Amino acid sequence: MVEANLSGLVTRSPASREILRLTGAASLIAAVPTKVIAVANQKGGVGKTTTAVNVAACLAATGKTVLLLDIDPQANATSGVGLEKIEGASAYSPLLGEGLLADKIKKTAFERLSIVPSEVDLCSAELELVRTENHLQRARMALEPVRASGQFDIVIVDCAPSLGILTLNAFAAADSLLVPLQCEYYALEGMSMIHRVMGQLRDSGVNTGLQLLGVVMTMYDGRTNLSQQVVSEVRKHFGAAVFDTVIPRTTRLAEAPSHGQPIIHYDKYSAGAAAYEVLTQEVLARLG
Ligand code: ATP
Ligand code: MG
Repeated sequence: MVEANLSGLVTRSPASREILRLTGAASLIAAVPTKVIAVANQKGGVGKTTTAVNVAACLAATGKTVLLLDIDPQANATSGVGLEKIEGASAYSPLLGEGLLADKIKKTAFERLSIVPSEVDLCSAELELVRTENHLQRARMALEPVRASGQFDIVIVDCAPSLGILTLNAFAAADSLLVPLQCEYYALEGMSMIHRVMGQLRDSGVNTGLQLLGVVMTMYDGRTNLSQQVVSEVRKHFGAAVFDTVIPRTTRLAEAPSHGQPIIHYDKYSAGAAAYEVLTQEVLARLG
């Protein structure tokens, strides 16, 4: 009806032509497929959750509709955006083919940022998934209706520190991987494993389109030679895959999760907030 009226107007004035152009543009934007990004590294404590929560919040602040999917039984992303663990609220049953993932989506206090929370039941999902058919495609299947609904521009999946079944499900469901590497001596360990797994998933047809969105260096301490050396070493190995933005080690970034807030809400003018905002611009540029 609206479209019919608009097309009736189209020949009459430049203004109405402009309206049609904008409406057309809006429908094109709506047709852009949902992008799924898995934040992963099998090493523990490298800044996966901090990156997932803060990039998700920054993306939402730029106007994107964002779903944070917490599939780590530790549920740190869940508490990081201020939600409690609630029994039965996680992706557990949809991953096992019972019920819809859409029914597990909860709004956060932050505009345009929603979450599928995690809780401890996801621990047993690992074991139960192995016994199911298509056990690597469960997250992809659960996400399919969410993608099809066009409700979200971007889904960010926060993975546990392992390459277990849940993480492999995230890899199988994702368009791309965002890999945080901590600025420490053994940072590069693990990257070869991720590359190998990506190759296996592509070659076996589990996810032929999986890309590396990029590597982000975290907890950078400019006062130490070690941080600088690690960054230059990682850049030597991975070149353009490494984001220009380096996330500094700051107390405010470490404090924010205990207040249930992403850094841009906890301390908008902090160095950590600025870093994640700039990283998010790089992420958007790479998403195209
Ligand atoms: P896990 O493997 O256990 O899931 P993770 O890779 O998700 O860990 P985070 O939880 O993001 O890592 O970070 C580990 C710890 O380091 C947390 O206490 C977090 O608050 C802190 N941290 C992360 N990034 C920074 C930073 N840039 N500056 C200071 N502290 C940070
Ligand atoms: Mg984590």
